[in-house]
Amino acid sequence: MSLEKFFEPKSVAIIGTSRQPGKVGHEILKNIIDGGYKGKIFGVNPKTEEVEGIKCYKSLTEIGEVPDLAVIVIPAKFVISTLEECGKLGTKAVIVITAGFKEIGKAGAELEKELAKIARRYGIRVIGPNCLGIVAPGSKLNASFGGDLPDSGGIGYISQSGALLASILDMANTNHIGFSKLVSIGNKADVDELDVIESLDEDPETKVIAGYLESIGNGDAFVRAAERITHHKPIVLIKAGGTAAGAKAASSHTGSLAGGETAYEAVFARSGIIRCNSIKQQFDYAQAFACSPMPNGARVAVITNAGGPGIMTADAIERQGLTFAKPSKETIAKLAEQLPAAANLYNPIDILGDALADRYEFAIDTVLDDENVDAIVVLLTPQAMTQSLETAEALIKIAKKKNSKPIFACFLGAAKVSDALKLLRVNNIPQYDSPENAVDTLRVMNNYVRWKNRPKRVVKLFGVNRRKVETIIEKHLRQGIREVGEMEAKEILEAYGFKTPKGSIATTADQAANIAETLGYPVVLKIWSPDIIHKSDVGGVKVGLKSAAEVKDAFDLMMYRIPKKIPNAHILGVLVQEMCKGGKEVILGMNRDPQFGPLMMFGMGGTMVEVLKDVSFYLAPLTTDEARQMLKNTRTYRMLEGVRGEEGVDIDAIAEGLQRLSQLVTEFPQIKEMDINPYVVGRAGITPIAVDARMSVEEGSK
Ligand code: ADP
Ligand code: MG
Repeated sequence: MSLEKFFEPKSVAIIGTSRQPGKVGHEILKNIIDGGYKGKIFGVNPKTEEVEGIKCYKSLTEIGEVPDLAVIVIPAKFVISTLEECGKLGTKAVIVITAGFKEIGKAGAELEKELAKIARRYGIRVIGPNCLGIVAPGSKLNASFGGDLPDSGGIGYISQSGALLASILDMANTNHIGFSKLVSIGNKADVDELDVIESLDEDPETKVIAGYLESIGNGDAFVRAAERITHHKPIVLIKAGGTAAGAKAASSHTGSLAGGETAYEAVFARSGIIRCNSIKQQFDYAQAFACSPMPNGARVAVITNAGGPGIMTADAIERQGLTFAKPSKETIAKLAEQLPAAANLYNPIDILGDALADRYEFAIDTVLDDENVDAIVVLLTPQAMTQSLETAEALIKIAKKKNSKPIFACFLGAAKVSDALKLLRVNNIPQYDSPENAVDTLRVMNNYVRWKNRPKRVVKLFGVNRRKVETIIEKHLRQGIREVGEMEAKEILEAYGFKTPKGSIATTADQAANIAETLGYPVVLKIWSPDIIHKSDVGGVKVGLKSAAEVKDAFDLMMYRIPKKIPNAHILGVLVQEMCKGGKEVILGMNRDPQFGPLMMFGMGGTMVEVLKDVSFYLAPLTTDEARQMLKNTRTYRMLEGVRGEEGVDIDAIAEGLQRLSQLVTEFPQIKEMDINPYVVGRAGITPIAVDARMSVEEGSK
């Protein structure tokens, strides 16, 4: 494990130990002692002989040996020189608890840079500064000032907020939740979230990686690592705060629709990270991943001593898209033999209000053996005769004996079930305070199993004309032009296999009519100006023109009205275009996130895109499955499939369009944002048409 020296040090020096209770330098030392750490502990403080029975040295060098781990708790201005001492001595793992760095502004940021430089020079790994420390229950090491040492367990936790870790420790200790490691990463001057996640991945004790993050540093590397790790270890994260990127100065639809959170949503979806909305939800999931076997399918059986909660659970199963298990004939026969006549033998299996622990035990044991059941939710309401504690014991016994399927407990109540809940927790039985949460967790586990078993990603490559695109983009960059005009944007699209409508530019009304005659009616007229991005906003689009007279009138009207509306626009003429009939309008787009790269967008197209906001995002490059999934993630998809007897459109053709676009933006990092709106799609076999497109380019995007 790469951060081994932090988690399994043979000796620890606390630099800045203090005699004064309540001071961080005192609390950390005390936590290390109270946690039962078995290695050597050295205090360092020139003014003190001893703290809490631990000898204090005047300086690091005076110790006479090299501590594996140093914890620095002295004022910020002394941290740099002390780190240098660590370097000279040979200590390779240092936690800097001290605050007063990047978080306080420019001077602090300078200090932090210096700190990182020294760490690199001496090959020291530094956690922090401005952090709460680390906790490794396996080594009984509590090098933090967060709280008491928690139990050992399968959850590895990483937090960008130190204070939050203190809350988590408190909650975990009250609820007997076990951890493999907890790391407060603070300002991430050296060790960042990726280092910790990778080290938790290598750690056999860690069954699930959980964390709270506000920012993610190296986008590309993060996505790649997470995708690799989630293949064998689940990651459940809370991500707070949006990216700074997003809607700023966006000229495309995609740019304005990609909010701060969109990139993270896409990153999580792509890398299989499970996103949690609250600490409570995170621990609901993490507990299950850490303690329970994985389900082999989505068929859930419910065992209950009351009708109401059984129905609530059945509702939840339906709502969350899981399957209500159908117990086999043998199971039903076996249950019938021993359960009272009034019991309901079918799912939800109602063993009645007078059920004692033995009846629960029999029912759980029997249902667990059924091949038609993938998971069990055990409900209990504390009625007059209910033996909640004994029922918990029975459940634990079975779970230990047959550890093959998830058994989730949902004991509903407070005082009357509290002892039972505690027993379940101590024995690592996932338990939930509502059927909804139990079922939600099963859903998440199921999705994870599917994610693990997904086929390998294969990105299809289309035969394209890269050369042509290169020439157009280079010309723009050379001339310092950011926006690629509609005509050239379409040339680029054609080079990547898109079909665009026929048409030419007219500068007089007669010329417009002539072009229309050649194209055939009806036609569309569009204002042609590099200064007008959204043409219909200024009355610059006229569709369905059926004769030369209509074309001429429309031409004259546009040329009269638009210069009045926007006097500064440089109008080059009017585009006369063939009219595409009978198709549905969708939008395909891309916005390049500065951290995570190209974010593809699909959605309902036309002029109402920003109003309806029915769009979905995913990171390029796209596989066929991912492109299809993007379609399915919108409401528009239902419409595209065909509603009320109406024939659907060619879904595969849209997915292919998305993949071609994804190839284009992957091969040309200079394209900053772009969209095709509308992309007019018709029935199967009819080639979709890129009716309108816009694109902006930039040197050296990611
Ligand atoms: P803009 O987005 O700049 O306003 P568009 O070229 O996208 O201009 O045109 C606006 C709308 O007009 C489109 O969303 C579409 O509904 C319709 N439209 C434009 N051109 C055509 C065409 N060639 N065939 C059919 N409909 C068109
Ligand atoms: Mg448009």
